[in-house]
Amino acid sequence: MVGIGYDVHKLQEGESLVLGGIDIDSPLGTIAHSDGDVILHALCDALFGAAGLGDIGEHFPDTDPRFKNAPSKVFLEYAIVLLKEHGYKPVNIDISLILEAPKIKPYKDAMRKEIASLCNLPYQRVSVKATTNEKIGFAGRLEGVAAMCVCMIESI
Ligand code: MG
Repeated sequence: MVGIGYDVHKLQEGESLVLGGIDIDSPLGTIAHSDGDVILHALCDALFGAAGLGDIGEHFPDTDPRFKNAPSKVFLEYAIVLLKEHGYKPVNIDISLILEAPKIKPYKDAMRKEIASLCNLPYQRVSVKATTNEKIGFAGRLEGVAAMCVCMIESI
């Protein structure tokens, strides 16, 4: 089965930027209830979607104080456990990040390794791609960062 996920967070000076579970050196960071990791949020939604298990907002409401500044790894770990309880495991994950700056090439490998580890997948089954938004739209104006994710899951 296949699932799709998408997430956006606003960017602001002085906030921290965490993407794919990795701290990114950037003057701009995400405004969010959690750590604002759009990659892991899109990934969680893709996993929930593939298994027909709702979305991240249902499992982790942004009104719940327990998730204030929560590391998004917690959400992903929960998603993997929930999938397992329903008899599924991820097969592969493909992510596209839309971020104007900074360049994330130096961080891609670490993101892939982190996601592979959290999802119990080999490195080769996790893809992290990135593009700018050609300086147009909210992402191009550095007002926000977005991520899209597609994943496949199979029965255990
Ligand atoms: Mg989010």
